[in-house]
Formats: sequence, structure tokens, C-alpha cells
Amino acid sequence: MSNRIKPERRGAEKPNGRELTGPVDHARIAAAVREILAAVGEDPDREGLRETPARVARMYEEMFAGMRQDPAGVLEKSFTEKYDEMVLVKDIRFESLCEHHLLPFFGKAHIAYLPNGKIVGLSKLARVVEILSRRPQVQERMTEDIADLLMIELDARGVGVVLEATHTCMAIRGVRKANSICTTSAMRGGFKDHPETRSEFMALIHGGRR
Ligand SMILES: [Zn+2]
Repeated sequence: MSNRIKPERRGAEKPNGRELTGPVDHARIAAAVREILAAVGEDPDREGLRETPARVARMYEEMFAGMRQDPAGVLEKSFTEKYDEMVLVKDIRFESLCEHHLLPFFGKAHIAYLPNGKIVGLSKLARVVEILSRRPQVQERMTEDIADLLMIELDARGVGVVLEATHTCMAIRGVRKANSICTTSAMRGGFKDHPETRSEFMALIHGGRR
């Protein structure tokens, strides 16, 4: 895995640039969760909570599985194809945990690219979103990482990425804006340089919805 890292996409590849080896430390998470329960005044040994630390440990392993997966590897198998118009996959559902509160944010990703002789299976785009979402994340970085990864791995002429998400850290605490949706976008190459390409992308995303 490590010999494929290119410096310009290190952020998309390895959280904090660190090589991750070995499994998630379940016992350590469980001990920490037990501590949290005790710290808020709960009794971690009462019946309803007894299994909670181990359950939470398994949950974090699942939610952070993307830390041990390489999104660039997913895009390695591409096909040579003369098609050079926009390829768009919209409404790719994702769930992630915000790294500021470890609370879920979830929504949809819309991804488009302008091929440069290389295309990938459409499911691979969804797989990239899944891997990058299963890490402690911020929506802005995830948006940019998807765009940069596709530009580099597909040698694309342009990439457009839009993420729309609900952040439970905003909905259930703090300002309590339950219905607000956060939209982020990253435009590269033709999507950045040509307003008409960008407009076509946005129209296709929102077609039939607004
Ligand atoms: Zn948050």
C-alpha cells in the first residue's frame, strides 16, 4: 500500500500521514467508554450498560474501517474508453463521524468527472466515498480529498464533487439547527475553469429536485 503514496494525495490516503498497522484496540476503547460512563455519574456495571463498552468498541471499528483502507487502490482498475463527456454519479449515500464531536454526519455525495481516456466502474466512486467517510472526518476535507484523488488516479480533465450533509452535532446540541444542510463543493480542472461545465454539473445534480 505505502509504495503507491504520492505526496499530493497523502491526506486522502493516510489520516495524519501515519501508517496504520494492526487491528483496532477493542480493550482500550472499551476501557475508555467505561471511564466516560463513570465520569458522567453512571454505573457502568448496571445491567443495561454492561455490554455497552464492548458494543461501542465494535461500532468504532466499523465506523473507522476506512482508516485501514486505501481509496486509491479502488481506482487502480480502470478501462480505456474514448468517451470524453461528463460522467456523473449522484445521490451516493454516506455516513461519517465528525472529528470534532465524534457525532454522525450523513448525506449524499455527487461526483462528476471528465475522462481523459480512462474510466472506472461507477460503483468504484461509491466505494471511494465509503472509504473516506469511514474515518474521523470534516466534510470540507472529505470533499476535497475525493476530488484530488479522482484527478490524480484517473488523470481526469476535470472533477466536480458536491457533498450535502446533516450534522447531528449541530442538530442535537449547541445551536440545535435540526434541519440545516451543509453543502460543500470542490471543483478541479474543467469544472473550475469552465463555468458552463460547472453549471451543467449543478443542473444535473438538482434536476427534478428543485
Ligand atoms: Zn461536529
